[in-house]
Amino acid sequence: MNSDFLTQGPHVEEFEYQMASYLNCDSCVAVNSATSGLHLACLAAGLDDKSRVWTTPLSFVATANCARYVGAEVSFIDIDRETLNISPLILEQKLKSAKQNGTLPDAIIIVHFGGVPCDLEKIYSLKKQYKFILIEDASHALGAEYKGKKIGCCDVPEFTIFSLHPVKIITAGEGGVVACKSNYERVLKSLRSHGITKRSQDPRPWFYEQSRLGFNYRLTDIQAALGSSQLKKLDRYVEKRNQLTTKYNARFADNKNVETRSEQRTLLSAQHLYVVQFKKIVTDSSRGRLMKELHALGIQTQVHYIPIYWQPYYRSLGYNFGLCPNAERYYTRCLSLPLHPAMNETDVDYIADKVLENI
Ligand SMILES: *Cc1c(COP(=O)(O)O)cnc(C)c1O
Repeated sequence: MNSDFLTQGPHVEEFEYQMASYLNCDSCVAVNSATSGLHLACLAAGLDDKSRVWTTPLSFVATANCARYVGAEVSFIDIDRETLNISPLILEQKLKSAKQNGTLPDAIIIVHFGGVPCDLEKIYSLKKQYKFILIEDASHALGAEYKGKKIGCCDVPEFTIFSLHPVKIITAGEGGVVACKSNYERVLKSLRSHGITKRSQDPRPWFYEQSRLGFNYRLTDIQAALGSSQLKKLDRYVEKRNQLTTKYNARFADNKNVETRSEQRTLLSAQHLYVVQFKKIVTDSSRGRLMKELHALGIQTQVHYIPIYWQPYYRSLGYNFGLCPNAERYYTRCLSLPLHPAMNETDVDYIADKVLENI
């Protein structure tokens, strides 16, 4: 608080450096939210109103909105019922037929739902074959690993975006980070600050140039300092989230009413969400009643997510119910339970007891 800088200053640079070292990627560009980061990634990727972007319906609306900001057309690819991530099989089928029709996507935005990495090997081989830009919305997946490499190491994807919103794995109050290959760093940094670049060698000390249409998407130094202190705790948080998840899974194992997400032991999940799915169809009103009963017992639950194209905005663009049956089936049966590193195993027992008593 005693520093001369309040908005973007030395702490932002330091935080970017720390993030890049943690992820083992070329560059990190800090911005004021993941939503801004996704927008800038779409711009830096050169997407516009002639572009086609494919993504998952099971995410927060910002994942698809970023493509709409640049005027691109969005298509939703259904999830896999087991992993809850975009289905590589459905993706491959759609890519095959898009190739025949000349409607291949320019970019695909994947989401590591709840922190569990997507089937990246398969997606990378499809990327190689069909040559799309790969953007990872890793808002749930800071600290996650795929086959020994951190999500965000940018070995294959062009951009990986993390959120520092308070509900995510670590926070800066608000904020986001774009991890990218080094050739995108300059354009992202320019776009986050009005499209302005300053030349340090210029004899005119007042001179700056706006070379493109940018935004004010800067992270403040105050936020970056918070991000840096949180980053030190990240691995401990992820470990605790995994420990609590294992405990939850043990409590719900072989239950006749609920099923849990299958564990993928070869991957390290950041465990952003703990979700149960009801085996029987639940009506909206009975799920609402359960949420209220649990809330009265001090247990805050949530539903992640309403399929994006069910939102009135997307309906107005012509997307219809029934488009992605797996995501819709999941939505009608899911409930996210509390999961936070400040919890302990006794909390998990209490929550599991109350959920099982009340369903
Ligand atoms: C939270 C979230 C976002 C948006 O993050 P902000 O930092 O709040 O802009 C985008 N995508 C997903 C999947 C999220 O969970």
